[in-house]
Amino acid sequence: TCGICVEKCPFDAIEIINLPQELTDEPIHRYGENAFALYGLPAPQEGRVTGILGPNGIGKTTAVRILADELTPNLGEYAAEVGWDEVLDEYRGTALQDYLEALVDDEVEVARKPQYVDQIPDQFDGTTRQLLERTDERGELNALVERVGIEPVVDQDIDTLSGGELQRVALVATLARDADFYFLDEITPYLDIGQRMTAARLIQELAEDGDRSMLVVEHDLAILDLLADALHVAYGEPGAFGVITDPKSTKNGINEYLKGYLDNENMRIRQEAIEFEQHAPRNVTRGDVAIEYPALTKSYGEGEFSLEVEAGEIKKSEVLGVVGPNGIGKSTFAQLLAGRLEPDEGEIDARLDIAYKPQYIEIDQPMRVDAFLSSITDDFGSSYWNTEIAQPLQLERVMEQNLTDLSGGERQRVAIAACLSKDADLYLLDEPSAHLDVEQRVLATSAIRRYAENHDATAMVIDHDIYMIDLLSDRLLVFDGEPAEHGHAATPQGMREGMNEFLANLDVTFRRDERTGRPRINKPGSNLDREQKQAGEYYYAP
Ligand code: ADP
Ligand code: ADP
Repeated sequence: TCGICVEKCPFDAIEIINLPQELTDEPIHRYGENAFALYGLPAPQEGRVTGILGPNGIGKTTAVRILADELTPNLGEYAAEVGWDEVLDEYRGTALQDYLEALVDDEVEVARKPQYVDQIPDQFDGTTRQLLERTDERGELNALVERVGIEPVVDQDIDTLSGGELQRVALVATLARDADFYFLDEITPYLDIGQRMTAARLIQELAEDGDRSMLVVEHDLAILDLLADALHVAYGEPGAFGVITDPKSTKNGINEYLKGYLDNENMRIRQEAIEFEQHAPRNVTRGDVAIEYPALTKSYGEGEFSLEVEAGEIKKSEVLGVVGPNGIGKSTFAQLLAGRLEPDEGEIDARLDIAYKPQYIEIDQPMRVDAFLSSITDDFGSSYWNTEIAQPLQLERVMEQNLTDLSGGERQRVAIAACLSKDADLYLLDEPSAHLDVEQRVLATSAIRRYAENHDATAMVIDHDIYMIDLLSDRLLVFDGEPAEHGHAATPQGMREGMNEFLANLDVTFRRDERTGRPRINKPGSNLDREQKQAGEYYYAP
């Protein structure tokens, strides 16, 4: 036996049909007795983008520390001295042999983008330019800065940048380096879809540019699908053990992951499949009207940003997806609804009680999670609260931790819980997907939906993960215009019309995977792309 799994996973995490090869072998690394063990490693490949798809806490960072020679793996022999020679013997004849040999000969330069870009200002004092200049090893810095659109902030102090700007600065700082192996841990948080696609393109170009290997962890599946040439799925029990599969094609890897069953490994990783509607859902007009608003305008002073809002109504117990680029006025509209800003023209009668989860979460008090949440709601700990909020958001494990010690994904789930625990008419969540893995996105989605239904409340969710918006929304509020100059909000509309309008603005069409019906971004200019644009069907099957 492997010591972790015998025949049935003792963690009840996965249903083992045939004991997978990985779990009968020794792990590549174990941190200590009864401590986390990692099975398998991703194999970076020259000239290619390799993706990793899996939950948080499953050993992705451990794997990368090994591939960056920051951690010498012990092959499970945590008490013994194991050197690279033994590891190399173990990996002879595998896809990793060449890479590991080069690593041991000190021939691998590694560049990595950190996962939590919000922490960059704590680690660096100075302007964007000062940070980036140190990384300009290929003479491509200016071109990269221009491609991602951060020229306007190059002379600003790092601590004045927004999350979306920090994410792009971190991406540029990594890609400007001259390395053999680039590791990018989540590229999409705080970026809008256009920016996500640009980031994906830049990573692909750098891989194609030479002998460089790119390894990317990403939870936005539409982007991962677009970006990766091959995919390792990671599964296991967070905190206990993780398995990294052999590489799969990106398409099969994502399909198997969504289905919850890994074909080659003969392994069920989830009881239920994650599924998407191929045809636009019928426009169900659920619930009474929660708020009706007239046409509104708002500008922030002469020559600054201005917003125009078409009249509309928001219904009770619906989830309204809010889509559009960054800097287009989504938060401004939310503040008009909340009565925190006065419109220049038009008037909102009803003053709604709004519970708000901001995009950048600042809950940094030295306080335990349970104390924090019980200070928000008297329902804390009730069986109802546990089923509706704590369980789907997987809070049990973090209840006794301090807010300051939480990881990005944990902090996000606590912030979503805090928002939903408030007594309000309208729950406004700005980018709840940030730093959540795919499982957590799906669970958070159903928690938000169920909450709105059961409470006759309305949820408005701003997000840039198209899969999440699809699974979450009853209707869509689409913003367009020129970011930072002027924005326009259409009246809330049905999913088909809304997706068509939103994706037409982006000039992006989606086809459907034949087997699973999952949406996939079309190559610009491909036959399908042209046909669908002509027919005006950007997302759903006609
Ligand atoms: P991921 O990047 O997938 O979130 P990590 O590789 O960071 O996962 O961590 C996987 C598990 O290994 C976690 O449960 C973590 O607590 C544990 N772990 C990480 N580093 C150490 C260490 N130095 N000693 C013991 N356990 C560790
Ligand atoms: P989004 O939520 O779509 O990213 P916002 O509503 O936050 O967009 O911002 C829209 C534009 O208005 C941005 O260019 C932003 O810099 C600007 N803006 C936001 N708040 C203010 C303010 N208080 N004063 C001046 N400009 C602002």
